[in-house]
Amino acid sequence: MKIVFATNNSHKLEEIRQILGAGIEVLSLADIGCHDDIPETAPTLEGNAVMKARYVYDRYGTPCFADDTGLEVDALDGAPGVYSARYAGGKGHDSEANMSKLLHEMEGMQDRRARFRTVIALIERKDGLPVQHTFEGRIEGAISHKRKGSSGFGYDPIFVPEGYERSFAELGSDIKNSISHRARAVARLAEYLLSKDR
Ligand code: IMP
Repeated sequence: MKIVFATNNSHKLEEIRQILGAGIEVLSLADIGCHDDIPETAPTLEGNAVMKARYVYDRYGTPCFADDTGLEVDALDGAPGVYSARYAGGKGHDSEANMSKLLHEMEGMQDRRARFRTVIALIERKDGLPVQHTFEGRIEGAISHKRKGSSGFGYDPIFVPEGYERSFAELGSDIKNSISHRARAVARLAEYLLSKDR
């Protein structure tokens, strides 16, 4: 079975290939010759994941899944949420600027509760028609008062998962990957893809 993961992020591809094993071949966007800048303009994580998976399915006719992740801070009504990558403006993915903005917005706030949430949308073909499934993974935690640690990426230095005192960036990839939002969503997707009776 072949399935496209609508990403070119090599870490994400490696992670999912390891979990799914040899029985399911996971192709990247580059593998299918898709070099488009796929739109992610929905107002929710679910909407963006579906939009990306659907984009590939509609144009390439292959089963496809896509993910979207956000950091949701309770005291900020769920912000930065779907805008996590571009919270500080610009084209996005400036982690230092994003963390500075978040720490600034939360100055003086006692309620630091937050979670990472990942949604994976899968579009496959059943009896000639597209069928959609979504899988969610989340990790509860809190936003620290300052950056701690240097591993990982994004908001890792300021996110302390529940039950721990160290940030994701201090805990390192082994612990992070065993409890993370993405790992949990990927596990649900894998359970579905590997189940015999779907
Ligand atoms: P994406 O949907 O995986 O591209 O994630 C969107 C944004 O959320 C990223 O640009 C990061 O800012 C943030 N993010 C996603 N996953 C993580 C994580 O595991 N640690 C820290 N930040 C993350």
